Amino acid sequence: MRKLLTVLIFAGLTFPVFPADPPPSRLMNGINWIDFRQWVPERIDTVLLPVGTVEAHGVANNGADNTVPEAIARDLAEPLNAMIAPTISYGITNSLQAFPGSIRISEATFRAYAKEVIAELAKSGFKNLIVINGHGPNYVPLQEVCAEVYRETRVRTLVFNWWTLTADITKEVYGTDGGHAGVNETAAVIATNPEWVRKEYADKDLAWWSIEGLSPYPYPSSIILYKAEEGYPDFDEGKARDFYSKVLKRLEAMIRTTIEKWDQAGL
Ligand SMILES: [Zn+2]
Repeated sequence: MRKLLTVLIFAGLTFPVFPADPPPSRLMNGINWIDFRQWVPERIDTVLLPVGTVEAHGVANNGADNTVPEAIARDLAEPLNAMIAPTISYGITNSLQAFPGSIRISEATFRAYAKEVIAELAKSGFKNLIVINGHGPNYVPLQEVCAEVYRETRVRTLVFNWWTLTADITKEVYGTDGGHAGVNETAAVIATNPEWVRKEYADKDLAWWSIEGLSPYPYPSSIILYKAEEGYPDFDEGKARDFYSKVLKRLEAMIRTTIEKWDQAGL
């Protein structure tokens, strides 16, 4: 490969955007520093950073906010030719902090830690820093931190909530709105780590829904539906796989388009 690259350089050709041979690992946890140096940023200039938290999720795993973004990163790294940064697994758990096994860190701590991690990723040479967020309360701090990192480093940043960008897919596949640990999030877990879904615990009493103007703290249910009586978990595996593959397609297109628009604008 090195010889081929040398020939290409002498021939005045640029590196292909998507190299034919894969890197030894797309995980920053798995790659060796010498390999990293050979691939980043010359042949891989995008990094995917999953961010979540640990909190109760109805019939799914407490770490769903981490494991779903990790699965998305794993499934999109190759098509987007990206590396995957280790997950920021502890986040701003709010009203579900009372549930067993839930872990909360404060917004100030989260913000400071996320800022340093994202700034270090920017300094390691990536041109595009894509944050796959799995937990709502992390979103605004992540947006602000990414804007700060851009201003300081000129590395382009994108933060998104995977379930917000795909709300219409929940409606398309299930005919309902979703919810926290509702049909959409549970489907993503069924499609990626089915062994972590406890179908035997399914009970409508595990769920409640958002009511405008009503804010219990702690929240009394870990399934928080966006609309009354709509979006309870569904255990059909085929539907879950269909939902997740559509989610992946949507997210890949959103990331790809953003990078193309940055390039077109010369930013
Ligand atoms: Zn969640």
